Amino acid sequence: MSSCIFCKIISKEIEGKIIYEDDQWLAFDDINPQAPVHVLIVPKEHIPTLNDLKENHRDIIGNMGVVINKITEIKNVREPGFRVVINCNPAGGQLVYHLHVHLLAGRQMHWPPG
Ligand code: AMP
Ligand code: ZN
Repeated sequence: MSSCIFCKIISKEIEGKIIYEDDQWLAFDDINPQAPVHVLIVPKEHIPTLNDLKENHRDIIGNMGVVINKITEIKNVREPGFRVVINCNPAGGQLVYHLHVHLLAGRQMHWPPG
């Protein structure tokens, strides 16, 4: 999608600090980190929100956990731990309407989240 900031990072039109890339997923550092490690893990297909997932996305989403696993290893945050977050729509705090997973680590997380 031409106006989407994450699509522009995927197409390399805009620079991102890329951590990991495969044929389905791209991961890059968040520009406004909320923790010492804050990575965005983004499917290359422009899917606006979790609400837009369809049957044909099973393969991409099925690989999401494996991709997260690779990135936690690259970032060396598996111990003492980390948090993953997906925001959906305004009440969920979503600002960029291209599906993405936040990986946050490097400090103690709290519950409930804000
Ligand atoms: P969300 O509120 O879940 O939609 O999160 C959007 C995230 O994208 C925020 O944490 C922003 O800091 C981040 N962000 C926005 N633009 C960029 C960019 N050009 N490069 C990296 N991260 C970005
Ligand atoms: Zn997009």
